[in-house]
Amino acid sequence: MNVIDLRSDTVTKPTKGMMDAIINAEVGDDVYQEDPSVNALEQYMADFFGMEAALFFPTGTMANQAAIKLHTQPGEQLICDKWAHVYNYEGGGASFNSGVSCKLIDGSRGMITAAQVEANINPPDFYHSPLTTLVCLENTTNKGGGACYDFAEILKIREVCDRHQLGLHLDGARLMNAIVANNESPKDYGKVFDTISVCLSKGLGTPMGTVLLGKKSLMKNALRVRKVLGGGMRQVGFMAAAGLYAMQNQVTRLSEDHNRAMDLARLLQGLEYVKFVEPTETNIVIFYLIDSISETQFMDTLEQKGVKISDMGQGKLRIVTHHDYTSEMHDAFIKVLKAYS
Ligand SMILES: *Cc1c(COP(=O)(O)O)cnc(C)c1O
Repeated sequence: MNVIDLRSDTVTKPTKGMMDAIINAEVGDDVYQEDPSVNALEQYMADFFGMEAALFFPTGTMANQAAIKLHTQPGEQLICDKWAHVYNYEGGGASFNSGVSCKLIDGSRGMITAAQVEANINPPDFYHSPLTTLVCLENTTNKGGGACYDFAEILKIREVCDRHQLGLHLDGARLMNAIVANNESPKDYGKVFDTISVCLSKGLGTPMGTVLLGKKSLMKNALRVRKVLGGGMRQVGFMAAAGLYAMQNQVTRLSEDHNRAMDLARLLQGLEYVKFVEPTETNIVIFYLIDSISETQFMDTLEQKGVKISDMGQGKLRIVTHHDYTSEMHDAFIKVLKAYS
């Protein structure tokens, strides 16, 4: 039996169809903007979200960092949830790359409200405090357990940003999961956000790549920023072709991941050794064990049975479903969970 790896949806490998797309990709030098496969992916993503410009990045981190740079000047401040990836998991990049600080909001499952945003904007004429210029949202939330924003709240946040002249960036590493789970329109997102990053290497299953989308006025400097961050790549059309394949063939199947995650959440909820399971909406399940069982002990036992999950700290254990987690693996994992005592 293969290892059942549920640490992240980044562990996926290309499917046969994706591998064919990679091998057959037409490529060129993308630093000269001459890679037809990269250009095709960027055009496809811009059209899909109804946004003016798109740029292919090696990682989601770099795309988010570039977005922050495009929106801010050194010394300014962005607003985000306390669990935000841009604050917690990008190596301090907001301060390192852009010289900005983050005003952290105590949101709910990684999501913040329009009222919280408004209450955390520093008055622009009060020169003692940093100037607030950007709001970063995450959908779905990572540390919040794949939670999805209510789109009506996003619209309210946009309204606050307009009133205070703030940029609005979406870390959409798993935006496609939210769109599939809630049957939303990608173009609605394109209308509301100034910039959006969409990862192709999570549930969509490519080896690498994230596309940053945005308004032309902001994105005109994106090529330079990407170059500065070291993200100008050459014949990277092989990877862009994987991304285009994923967008065209591996989006609707995300609902299978969501169904399996919800199966697991329901099962865990009923097990004696589980204290609490966070609400599960997409492909991430976060749960807590009862006090008498340590996370390490539990994870070691699972690992001996061939299952890997992750420890997010503060008692949070995380399971992420993805396309390499098959129905046979699902059945086997359910047996392992039921047998644990
Ligand atoms: C994975 C992820 C990213 C990007 O991570 P990379 O590993 O750099 O691609 C950004 N935001 C969120 C919420 C993520 O989960």
